[in-house]
Amino acid sequence: MLIAGNWKMYKGPSEALAFCRAFVPPEGVEIVVCPPFSALREAMATGLTVFAQNVHWEREGAFTGEVSAEMLLELGVAGSIVGHSERRRYFGETDETTARRAKRALDAGLAVVACVGELEEERERGETPAVLHRQVSVLPRHERLVVAYEPVWAIGTGKTATPEIAQQAHGLIKTILDAPVLYGGSVKPENAEELLVQRDVDGALVGGASLDIDSFTAICETAARLSRS
Ligand code: PEP
Repeated sequence: MLIAGNWKMYKGPSEALAFCRAFVPPEGVEIVVCPPFSALREAMATGLTVFAQNVHWEREGAFTGEVSAEMLLELGVAGSIVGHSERRRYFGETDETTARRAKRALDAGLAVVACVGELEEERERGETPAVLHRQVSVLPRHERLVVAYEPVWAIGTGKTATPEIAQQAHGLIKTILDAPVLYGGSVKPENAEELLVQRDVDGALVGGASLDIDSFTAICETAARLSRS
């Protein structure tokens, strides 16, 4: 079971350091925090496993605003998120660029959490299986690849997929690609257990609730308890 906290564009170096110093990771569950680039070093200094939120597909070059896998590895970062729906929505990320980022990062030695998930209108039109197929089939096969199923209508909206919807999507993803699949989309202490007990849910990618130490700890403790049972 893996619980990853995506801090988005929240927490600069001092806030990240204070959070990571105060956070006590429960035994029996893998935990990752994903701070903004500027706070990676401080988070790592506390001994937690740290992923970036994005990584470029070239080693270096004229790519203003981007960071390469080699640069993250030099810092000691263990992995990166790629293809988050906010990157797709606001920064023109596509299935192709997501796959390129994932492949390069994996080849360089990072772990990768690749995000997929349908828009609300795609779900309403019954297109979820086709969208997931399109997004997942381009991802590289790799032992360090983890997929995060994040229905876009559930991210930061307070709307959570039902456990049945999550299980169905995770089951489908696993028929396309053999990898652990995290659920993401308004995961909170109150709904973590019903999602994490689903057969094909291997953990969670937590956004908003990972910013608060009590709620993130509660979600990690739920995951740890389920892993032990
Ligand atoms: C995310 O940012 O990956 C996410 C799932 O956000 P939230 O938990 O806030 O919906």
